[in-house]
Amino acid sequence: MADTGAPADLDEAERARILAKTARFAPPPAVTADGRRELVGLSREELKAVLVEAGMEPFRAKQVWHWIYYQGATDFARMSTIAKPTQAKLAERFVIGRPEVAAVQTSTDETRKWLFRFRDGQEAETVYIPDKWEDRGAVCMSSQVGCTLACRFCHTGTQVLARNLGAAEIVGQFMAARDAYGEWPSPKGETPRLLSTVVMMGMGEPLYNYENVAKAIRIAMDGEGIGLSRRRITLSTSGVVPMMDRCGADLAVNLAVSLHAVRDDLRDELVPLNRKYPIREVLDACRRYPAASNARRITFEYIMLKGVNDSPAEAHELIRLIAGIPAKVNLIPFNPWPGSPFETSTPAAIDRFAEIVNDAGFSSPVRTPRGRDILAACGQLRTESQRQRAGTDAGEKG
Ligand code: SAH
Ligand code: SF4
Repeated sequence: MADTGAPADLDEAERARILAKTARFAPPPAVTADGRRELVGLSREELKAVLVEAGMEPFRAKQVWHWIYYQGATDFARMSTIAKPTQAKLAERFVIGRPEVAAVQTSTDETRKWLFRFRDGQEAETVYIPDKWEDRGAVCMSSQVGCTLACRFCHTGTQVLARNLGAAEIVGQFMAARDAYGEWPSPKGETPRLLSTVVMMGMGEPLYNYENVAKAIRIAMDGEGIGLSRRRITLSTSGVVPMMDRCGADLAVNLAVSLHAVRDDLRDELVPLNRKYPIREVLDACRRYPAASNARRITFEYIMLKGVNDSPAEAHELIRLIAGIPAKVNLIPFNPWPGSPFETSTPAAIDRFAEIVNDAGFSSPVRTPRGRDILAACGQLRTESQRQRAGTDAGEKG
């Protein structure tokens, strides 16, 4: 027990420190320019409180929730279970918003990528990756505008952190993507969905914006609204150990861990957060993760970088490290971006690596590159948009 047991006071202090730091990058208040309050992103209790404060009966919260998250309404006039005068009163004070589409690109393979713009002009990316064979697909969502971490292979890592996204902006990415495919009302139970899973693998480190991410996930899981089961939600982290424990205890969603290297000296380089939370601590947190089982395995993400981390010896070391963890290993061919210091491993090296991991009993799918014809490396679309905007400004100045 001693070496893998739940950490105590030290981690509690560390969590408090992380949450305090998160607050410094808080999103602006979710209010329109004319002073109307955004209703998306409020918890059920908060929704009830703001409606009651506006002079409405508490039961309105349940109705409004249903219209927002089950029906996908953005207009109070659509809320046919609510009398017209009340609808008008709601519209005077509140708004049900969506992030604005600053850019959208659809790949020849149907992968779609949006650059969403929020009220203060900040932008973040969302990608929809449809399953080729079935009516389902994953929505890859951002948690921050930029990132404080600077993983060397990651384009988002070249951007500084502008700010955290609010709960409305996080769940709003999913709702706006659903709008694009017309998938409202929310399909019930096991009815097939086009947008069937959520992965928090876009821009940013979700565990450095934990409270907003958790709130958005709770909204998405609510059975009277979007109703996604926790099994269909995966949170990816670069290994913020104290918050992995919190995430497991509170949300119990699927966990993906960006491992990318099997030795601390190399991981220190690729994922600098490793200097704070080294491989052993990350793996111990995985062993403690309550939602992990053979039915719900932890995903280890491993980016394949030519000549850097892709040798057979490293594959063997990987299986030694993760022995005993209910896990699968996602091998991700590196997606190059302008100026990136790496190359993608050769297909032969990837196959060899996958075979070793697979032979040890860990499923080791190779993530097929999708959307290669669009700016698919995470963060690239935002950089391009900023570049264009800067260009326009310079042009105006003369
Ligand atoms: N910050 C979190 C979640 C967002 S990054 C984390 O690091 O886990 C999610 C994943 O994007 C990372 O695991 C990494 O594998 C992948 N990624 C980042 N840059 C990439 C690139 N250039 N090519 C392929 N995958 C990349
Ligand atoms: Fe941030 Fe994840 Fe990119 Fe690392 S890989 S810089 S943690 S977004």
